[in-house]
Amino acid sequence: MRRMIDLTAVCVVLAVATSAYAQQCTCGTAKVQNGWCADCKVGYVDAVKMKSRALFDALAGTEVKAEEIKCASCKKAHASDGYCPDCRVGFVGKKKYGSHVAYVLAKGERKDPAAITCDGCKKNAADHGWCDSCKVGMVGNVAFKDKKTYDEAVEARRTLTAAAESKCETCAVAMVTDGECKECKVAYKDGKKTKTDKP
Ligand SMILES: [Zn+2]
Ligand SMILES: [Zn+2]
Ligand SMILES: [Zn+2]
Ligand SMILES: [Zn+2]
Repeated sequence: MRRMIDLTAVCVVLAVATSAYAQQCTCGTAKVQNGWCADCKVGYVDAVKMKSRALFDALAGTEVKAEEIKCASCKKAHASDGYCPDCRVGFVGKKKYGSHVAYVLAKGERKDPAAITCDGCKKNAADHGWCDSCKVGMVGNVAFKDKKTYDEAVEARRTLTAAAESKCETCAVAMVTDGECKECKVAYKDGKKTKTDKP
């Protein structure tokens, strides 16, 4: 009897060890926490699915310390969750975002749609919408209490969705960073195409 129990224990340990090495789909948590699923090779930002790792990385925030910042306006932004238009970087919770889209979306609070109790908010989380009874706007799974930031986030998510659907990876990154794509000869501002003045 004793021996059987030991064997069962060994089997359990082996099963746990094997599953830790095998790659598993993490889309469920990635969708809620802005993660990357190595198994499916897709990332999620505000529940928007993207196949481009470059786009996903362009949207990620990096931790920065105040003393590492040289620009005065960035220093102020770092202390107040603000945006520096000169450097085109935003800060939320001491994290630096090189994308205005990612910066705006980071200002909200990420929610697990399954845990939302209000029916109106739950419906809004499927796309976007403002709930008058909760005074909360949902943009994907991100909640905003401030109406103005919510409106900005709706625009940001629209840009994000367009970028995720873009066939050109460089354009996708350019869309969320107000950059340009030399290949396609286009520049982007707030997710919209602008003409490049360079030939
Ligand atoms: Zn997956
Ligand atoms: Zn700056
Ligand atoms: Zn609600
Ligand atoms: Zn392009």
